[in-house]
Amino acid sequence: MTWETQKIAIVGAGVAGLCAAVYARTCGFDVDLIEQHETPGGLATRWRRGDYAFETCLHWLLGSNPDGRLHDMWDEVCDTDLLQFVYHEEFVRLETEHSEVLRVFADVDCLEREFLRVAPEDAVEIRQFTAAVRHLTDLPLPDPSADWIERGWTMLRMLPEIPLLARLSRLSAESYGARFTHPLLRRFFGEGPSARMSVLALAFSLAWQSQHNAGYPIGGSQAVIGAIAQRLGDLGGHLRCGAVVERILVENDAAVGVQLAGGETIRSDWVISAADGHATIYQLLDGRYTDASVESVFDRYESFPSYLQVSFGVARDLSTEPGYLTIVLDAPIAIDPETRLEQLSYRIFHYDPTCAIAGKTAVTCFLPTANFGHWTALRSTDPARYHAEKARIGEAVIAVLERRIPGIRRAIEVIDISTPATVIRYTRNWKGSMQGWLITPETGLGAIPATLPGLDRFIRVGQWIQPGGGLPSGLMTARAALKTICRGAHVPFRNRTHTLEM
Ligand SMILES: Cc1cc2nc3c(=O)[nH]c(=O)nc-3n(C[C@H](O)[C@H](O)[C@H](O)COP(=O)(O)OP(=O)(O)OC[C@H]3O[C@@H](n4cnc5c(N)ncnc54)[C@H](O)[C@@H]3O)c2cc1C
Repeated sequence: MTWETQKIAIVGAGVAGLCAAVYARTCGFDVDLIEQHETPGGLATRWRRGDYAFETCLHWLLGSNPDGRLHDMWDEVCDTDLLQFVYHEEFVRLETEHSEVLRVFADVDCLEREFLRVAPEDAVEIRQFTAAVRHLTDLPLPDPSADWIERGWTMLRMLPEIPLLARLSRLSAESYGARFTHPLLRRFFGEGPSARMSVLALAFSLAWQSQHNAGYPIGGSQAVIGAIAQRLGDLGGHLRCGAVVERILVENDAAVGVQLAGGETIRSDWVISAADGHATIYQLLDGRYTDASVESVFDRYESFPSYLQVSFGVARDLSTEPGYLTIVLDAPIAIDPETRLEQLSYRIFHYDPTCAIAGKTAVTCFLPTANFGHWTALRSTDPARYHAEKARIGEAVIAVLERRIPGIRRAIEVIDISTPATVIRYTRNWKGSMQGWLITPETGLGAIPATLPGLDRFIRVGQWIQPGGGLPSGLMTARAALKTICRGAHVPFRNRTHTLEM
């Protein structure tokens, strides 16, 4: 067998699987990329209803700035010139139902001025936080695909900031928020799915916003996915949608291909799983390749919650409203038996003309819940109540916005409500998680091993091996996987522009 004939089967065409397929083709491997859904993208998706497109995934893409971190790596998997980025003045706006407002600006100097204006009593803490954000702007990211020389450089660059990184990574956003006295500042840090994340993750996201390296691409997540799929097509990669991988075939403790639902088998020299982390280990591989360290991840790490999304198309120009608005509620809303939300976050897509024609606006509201079991059970056992519950929540979400933007209800033309059951159906992610593992004080920023003990010629990529998830986790872990495979196959790793010696 020569390396030119080697083939890689890749399970799952989310961003991670697509990036892995592009790198694999660039390195000269044959590729079969297999996706269970009818379209690629996984969580990075949007859907059309009538005149409107409803985005679910993308708020911002790290690497949007041609001079910033990660941009060159995105260039390796797609033509970034195809993407047009928008930079919001405000990262998010928090409002109470009594007109109290906190504008969280993307620019760190504006953010500091606004926080000091709103909460002078918190001046010391505010200045400490914004100083930390400024320190992080120039720091490189831990990159699992970096070789030891690059890692050495990263460590050297990080050295002066180690005390700051250690201090912030040990604190959850929620506990950090408790240092502030202003209620909206406390809430900015301490509510929502990111509250249990290490505050370091939040500080990094603000640093990237401030650097204009985390823009929103017009066309949303599918613009990015489309650009990567286009590169894969140009390279002759084979993407097969609507095919479910049922098991990863193993012979003599080495992966030798995959078996699809219906029985068809695809033989390959390597298998990459870019599918859900739990199902890969415990279903596709029957739990045969685990040990205490693999299992401890599922015991110790906390996953991002799942979510409902209420999306509605409004026949009205909402361009004077903030793009991302969080409303702190007077009375919490019950989402399911275990979940009550004290605030609702709306994304008002007036900045993306692909979401609606001029004069109309797509609006989405994201409602986190960890109670995925309630929604999957309801959908399968009591469809009428499932639909009634969706309608109840949709009505509550609209009622809150009607109080903020009077008359909006009358202008709503389309309503669409998805639940954790929808997320599981379309992506098969464990517990319907929106983003894999949270970065917490316990996990730190480090990646989880991509291989499994005792199994050869198999490697994992994507959000389940890089705490924090996000599209960059797919890119970076895919690059790292192909470097490992190239090393094993004794071929040079190639990115788009040059050959790297192993
Ligand atoms: C509401 C929301 C907001 C977000 N905001 C951002 C943001 O602003 N910026 C950012 O960078 N990230 C964001 N994310 C996170 C980001 O979308 C995900 O972390 C990322 O898309 C995960 O990519 P992945 O390829 O690792 O996994 P997935 O997208 O889950 O892809 C896995 C793929 O495998 C397929 N699959 C699963 N099992 C099988 C099987 N047996 N056979 C065949 N195929 C299979 C699935 O259908 C899916 O397509 C957000 C996510 C959500 C939900």
